[in-house]
Amino acid sequence: MSGRLSEYSKRRDVSRSGEPSAESSKAGGGEHPVFVIQKHDASNLHYDFRLEVDGALASWAVPKGPSTDPGEKRLAIRTEDHPLDYADFEGVIPEGEYGAGTVLVWDRGSYENITEKDGEIRPMAEALEKGHALVRLDGEKLRGGYALQRIDDADDQWLLIKMDDDGADARRNPVSTEPDSVASGKSMDEIADEGGE
Ligand code: MN
Repeated sequence: MSGRLSEYSKRRDVSRSGEPSAESSKAGGGEHPVFVIQKHDASNLHYDFRLEVDGALASWAVPKGPSTDPGEKRLAIRTEDHPLDYADFEGVIPEGEYGAGTVLVWDRGSYENITEKDGEIRPMAEALEKGHALVRLDGEKLRGGYALQRIDDADDQWLLIKMDDDGADARRNPVSTEPDSVASGKSMDEIADEGGE
């Protein structure tokens, strides 16, 4: 198993939670890497922002969800890498399991790494190591550039900020106006009802 996913495996029993196992990872490495944002109604509702990086999903939990307003900085807590298969996961993690609660695929698509260093694209893994990455999302709800900036002296606290481009719109608020799944069209309640009791 990849060392990057050992934390993922340690935290959960996928035979009970119904989540993808670390071993099941699909190939990835397509022409364009994928991103997914999963709305997760755990002990605290949050949005899990995940980017395919070198065969796994680098992940952040964003309590307020992403904004389309370049004036809004959204706190993003870095969490453990997830297997690529997780991008398709939608359902209910049972009570008593790590992250118990409903998971909905809120947005997904491909992304482009546009982080530059000395006029060249800096590889994503290196950009994340340095605490600064720029990505251009091509999702159904979110489009255009986003900056991920690690807060100084904070290992796991980052800011997710919309870049000021064609995808920016301070009047949109897709987190509240477009709540349903882009994978199934379902609402959180519909997924919860099907996955529960
Ligand atoms: Mn989560």
